Amino acid sequence: MNIAYMHPADQLVMFMQRIYDRGLTTTSGGNLSIQDRDGNIWITPASIDKGTLTRADIICVKPDGTIIGNHKPSSELPFHESVYKRRPDIHAVLHAHPPALVAFSIARKLPDLDLIPTVRKTCSRISIAKYAVPGSEELGENIGEEFSKGYDIVLLENHGVCIGAADMFAAFMMFETIDYSANLEIYASKLGSVRHLSPDDINMTETRFHLLMDDFIPNSRSSEELEARREMIKLIRRSYKQGLFTATHGTYSVRLSDGSFVITPFGRDRAYLEPEDLVRIKGGMKEQGKVPSRAVQAHDLIYRENADINAILLAHPPHAMAFAVTESKFDPRTIPESYILLRDIEKLPFSEIYADPMSVAHSFAPNRPALIFQNDCVIVTGSTLLQAFDRMEVLESTAHSILNSLSIGDIVHISQDEITDLKKAFNLVD
Ligand SMILES: [Zn+2]
Repeated sequence: MNIAYMHPADQLVMFMQRIYDRGLTTTSGGNLSIQDRDGNIWITPASIDKGTLTRADIICVKPDGTIIGNHKPSSELPFHESVYKRRPDIHAVLHAHPPALVAFSIARKLPDLDLIPTVRKTCSRISIAKYAVPGSEELGENIGEEFSKGYDIVLLENHGVCIGAADMFAAFMMFETIDYSANLEIYASKLGSVRHLSPDDINMTETRFHLLMDDFIPNSRSSEELEARREMIKLIRRSYKQGLFTATHGTYSVRLSDGSFVITPFGRDRAYLEPEDLVRIKGGMKEQGKVPSRAVQAHDLIYRENADINAILLAHPPHAMAFAVTESKFDPRTIPESYILLRDIEKLPFSEIYADPMSVAHSFAPNRPALIFQNDCVIVTGSTLLQAFDRMEVLESTAHSILNSLSIGDIVHISQDEITDLKKAFNLVD
């Protein structure tokens, strides 16, 4: 989907629905606008249910102030106008009250940008604007002042967040990224102090391997490949809905019987991926005209070194990632399902995946199907895509339970004898 070809009113409906569906704003809170090249501001209406917005509800405010539409424009129009007036490079403004960022806005703190690699790159220009009455000229001034200093993400004291970007997808990506990071920091802080990435760590992630691969031209596609593409898209969309992925991060792949594999593309919006967007990798070459995920080399090596692995999922599920950004050990001996599916999970150092992908490939084993990478991601494998997906869900759900239990009491783990019985009962390999 290319939003450059979508009318501003349709974009606003699409993104408001997406924000609402992910629980990042309430029915009455939050508003979006787009300024088109003629200076018209298209904006969401005041007092209309955000869950059922249609294009007919969108308001157009002309440069001379004339208002066209079936409702009143959002009461926050003054601060949208204030941002456009001060920043000619900004053409989309997103405002919402997502719970995690509101937590930071009422604590009057900025979220940590150095927990995982992509956050500082996307969200470094962040500040906080002084409180003022919603809808007031004063709030417009306070927010506009921060944008005129060059900030693109502005938390509003005791209110929410306002983000400006060249287009709505860029604004949404920043929004999702900073909200993810805020949640991650909140979850991780329950476990203890967090580990930060250094600038050297972040530089290490600038791999170009995925861009430099040679191309091959596929002559035909097997039914097996077409089925793999269809099933991957189903689970990728589900993963996005469940928050296991953000819009542009998260990598799934499936191996085909000829040894080639199909993997997610680089930088494409996961919410609207189609089977044809996935990239086939064969003999170290990529399907012509497509760019695979940056993790393609790690996937390639994991398949080569592990004959029983046929699906690999790399993601950043926020509760599981709390263990990746702290020194806390993730122990899945919580309920039988968790131990049976996840077995012994190791945590590998941050640099491993970039500096030594071969050693990562050798770290997987039948009794070690999932790994956590410090400050980076989790990788989960399976003999089928569904088994790997099940493991990813169980990993996130187990992490969620452990974090919840912290406020109730000490965890009693399944004992060693009980583990021995589980291994026998479920034929688990050692
Ligand atoms: Zn608001």
